[in-house]
Amino acid sequence: AAQRVTRFATTVFSEFSALAAKHGAVNLGQGFPDFDGPDAIKEAAQRAIRDGGNQYAMGAGARELRVAIAEHSARFYGQTVDPDTMVTVTSGATEAILDTLLGLVDPGDEVVAFEPFYDSYDANITFVGATARYVPLRPPDAGHAQWWFDRDEVRAAFGPRTRLLILNTPHNPTGKVFTRDELSFLAELCAEHDVKVLSDEVYEHIVFAPARHLRPATLPGLAERTVTVSSGGKTFSLTGWKVGWVIAPPPLRDAVQRAHQFVTFATAAPLQAAMAAALRLPDAYFDGLAAFYLAKRERLLTGLREAGLTAFTPEGSYFILADIARRGFADDVAFCRHLVSEVGVAAIPPSVFYGPEHRHLGQGLARFAFCKTEAVLDEAVRRLRAGL
Ligand code: PMP
Ligand code: GLN
Repeated sequence: AAQRVTRFATTVFSEFSALAAKHGAVNLGQGFPDFDGPDAIKEAAQRAIRDGGNQYAMGAGARELRVAIAEHSARFYGQTVDPDTMVTVTSGATEAILDTLLGLVDPGDEVVAFEPFYDSYDANITFVGATARYVPLRPPDAGHAQWWFDRDEVRAAFGPRTRLLILNTPHNPTGKVFTRDELSFLAELCAEHDVKVLSDEVYEHIVFAPARHLRPATLPGLAERTVTVSSGGKTFSLTGWKVGWVIAPPPLRDAVQRAHQFVTFATAAPLQAAMAAALRLPDAYFDGLAAFYLAKRERLLTGLREAGLTAFTPEGSYFILADIARRGFADDVAFCRHLVSEVGVAAIPPSVFYGPEHRHLGQGLARFAFCKTEAVLDEAVRRLRAGL
């Protein structure tokens, strides 16, 4: 194998989904819903296949979907998006993240991101030959109601070679929703160092009041430098479709598009037609999604606490982090291995979402996904209460 992949092990998601299957465990590990998205959207995809929309879509994405993405941005964020010069449709947010790094970052550049991070960031930074500079998010404490970052640590991570800041809000796995004040601080720092921003917003519609999702690209100073990445996987409970997109000002979008044309060229055509219909669902769908997940969040939070775990309340996403530091295990991997084989519940050990320097910060945590039916959440809680 090439050097660039030799340090990669099987992703933790595949590993723990396989362990869950082997042990017959309830799988609260890998983040995917155990239910499907709206029937109307699935039917739109079937219609598109039946009616012959089965050849290559336009490289930048089907125009109908690009228009729907622009309309969605105006509806929810008051953001003006030109569907012809500011949007590229990708095969999931995963491709959008790679295209953005390929399009904007040179070998030897530095990329700043927060820990814990979504694991593809680290691998993709390696792919483009850049160096990651990680800043850890700190858990809630007496002075902070939510996960927070030390501004001096962020300042120290920026330097002359910094090319890109990767943001993720709502954040996987902490559930943090970045505030206007935090984003304004980051915007100033990026302007000062002429740094571009990749804003990963795949959980944009899974946010719990009073928290509100802010699109960084709508803040002063960020519009010109931000590549917004999202996808339909979480919003429409269709993670297997892998339809994502990039929204960026024309010069940045042009750079991303140049990469995209030689990564996948185009994304599955009939699914793009259906995704356009999905993005046009009425407000009630989106409000309903947040309410639907709020009930699941409460169910799992209560259950984890009844099982004796200290669980942090997420403001967004469909993940809960629990503090497992004082439960007598060597680390998070040992805890999660025990949980899956002896207790019958799969969770994800978050230390893999940290670089070597701060890995210990993840070793006292476990991540539980609540994008599951009530019966599955209840069975997981029953097992945790009996077996922990
Ligand atoms: N970013 C984050 C933070 C995620 O949690 C995920 C989903 N696993 C992705 C990106 C990838 O999204 P997609 O499935 O659309 O490629
Ligand atoms: N985003 C999902 C998670 O964080 C799964 C992603 C994957 O399987 N690669 O669990």
